[in-house]
Parts: sequence; C-alpha cells; structure tokens
Amino acid sequence: MNITTYTPSENIHLIDTLHLGRDQVIGSYLLLGDAPILVDPGPTSTLATVEQGLASHGLGLGDLQALLLTHIHLDHAGATGTILARHPHIRVYVHERGAPHLINPEKLLGSATRLYGDLMDVLWGEFLPVPDQRVTVLRGGETLQIGGRMLDVRYGPGHASHHVVYIDQTSGAAFVGDNGGVRLPGSTYARPATPPPDIDLEAWDRTLTMIGELRPRLLCLTHFGPVFDPAEHLQSYRERLHRWAELVGSSIAQGEDDTVNLARLQELAVQELHDTPGEAERYEQATPLYQSWQGLNRYWQRRRA
Ligand SMILES: [Zn+2]
Repeated sequence: MNITTYTPSENIHLIDTLHLGRDQVIGSYLLLGDAPILVDPGPTSTLATVEQGLASHGLGLGDLQALLLTHIHLDHAGATGTILARHPHIRVYVHERGAPHLINPEKLLGSATRLYGDLMDVLWGEFLPVPDQRVTVLRGGETLQIGGRMLDVRYGPGHASHHVVYIDQTSGAAFVGDNGGVRLPGSTYARPATPPPDIDLEAWDRTLTMIGELRPRLLCLTHFGPVFDPAEHLQSYRERLHRWAELVGSSIAQGEDDTVNLARLQELAVQELHDTPGEAERYEQATPLYQSWQGLNRYWQRRRA
C-alpha cells in the first residue's frame, strides 16, 4: 500500500498512520524543507507506519526538527515522548494549557484510561513524558520560523481548551487538528468531534470564524486529509455542530434520560451517513459517537450549573 496517499500542497504530505490497520482514520502531516516538521505525529501504536511514510521521502525520525501539536489528545500527540526519547534534539510546540500534561502525563492518562479502559495500549501504545526543556510553549499569536518555513499560530479552543491552529505562510494551509471535525476524502460531510471534557460551543464558533477570516487556501484535517473548500466546509461544519448540540440540549431540557438522549443522537448520525463502504467504521474509530454524546452532554450540564 502506498502510505503517503495525499499531497495537499507542494512540500506538504499526509502520512496515513493506518490506525488499527484501517486507512483514512488518523493522519500526520509532513512538512518537507531544510527543517522537516511533523504536525501531530499520531499515537505510538502507529509510529512504525509514520516511520515508513518518512522513509518514502528518504527521511527518518531523526531528520525531524520539530513536532507541532495542535492539541495533546492521544490520537494526535501520543508518540511525542517516544520520538523525543529516541531523538532528543527535536523541539515540540504546544499550547500553554497542554504543555504541563505533556511533561507530566499522569492526569491525561488517568482521564484517557477512564474513557478507553483496557483498550488503551492497543489503541494508543505508550505515552512517555516529554522533557520540559524541549517544549516551546505557545499562547497563540506567535509566528514560528522553522528552517525556511514560517508558520503563524492561533489559539483555537472549542474541541479542546488547549487547541491551536497553525497556518503555513507559503502554502496557505491551515492545520486545524480536530476543530474542523471529521471528513473523509471524496465526501463533503463533516461529522462533529465532541469528546469530553472541554467542549465549548461558543469558543468553537469564535475559532471557526477566526479560521475563516485567515482565508486559508486549504484546511488540513487529522481525520482525514486536506479540504480545498475551506469557507463551505467551515459553514456546513458549524451548522452540523449546532444541530448535534441542540439535539442533545433539547433532550436534556425535555427530561429524557441518558439512554434516550444518546439513542436520539445515534439516530441522527445514522441518518447522516451516506452508506459508502467503510464509512461508518471510519467515523466511529476517529470519533466514537458515545464520546461525542458525552462531550455535548457535559457541555450542557456545565452551562446549566
Ligand atoms: Zn482531539
């Protein structure tokens, strides 16, 4: 199988990590140049596949100069400490709210274990701490120069309170992590990615507006691939996100119990599927529906409190 299946832009390549052997679920973006960069290396469980992707460009992990993390969820950032343990020269960029959990991951791993239980190791593999002297802490508003490449950083909460967006000045590519939802290649449908604990719809709206105002030429989604109609995507994603949130919120307002509430969201999600082979499985693997419901439910509970 050709691992690097997409070339969003010159010198930007998408490595398919083939998570659990399935394609088009989790991607990692390779930015080539005099100082190669990975945006979100993915989990440790797929690191060998990322290495094969790098090798197809004549590179190894040791050639990387920087890891840019959009946020620290395990499917995006899990391999960071493992890569650093092997190649301590690499610099890691992460938002200030995420950095402490990268350096001391106990709390992050505790909450992930509550979500994934016994599946932690199979899904993600090890999560090693990152040495603090290798971490550059971001707040949003910075411009990074890494080799000859210039990237603007914007704070982008909504999916996670420590999420940032990177915009490559040359290509106009915006690395939006999970802020643009989950959209499979060849489809225009974007499914909300709303896991606990941080979902904040008001912040997410502001983030989507901010991304649109940057007028990116393309959006680079982790799940999965480049999107070349940014304005349409941001608009339709915003609408769907609110549709999902309102369904969960109205269920709570009607006093329906969690089982009924979840079933209503499931019904909507099934209606929205287009029934292409593997589609339902990919969405479920990239963003399990039960977690999306939990995140939206928590959002409303917090608003009412
Ligand atoms: Zn995430």
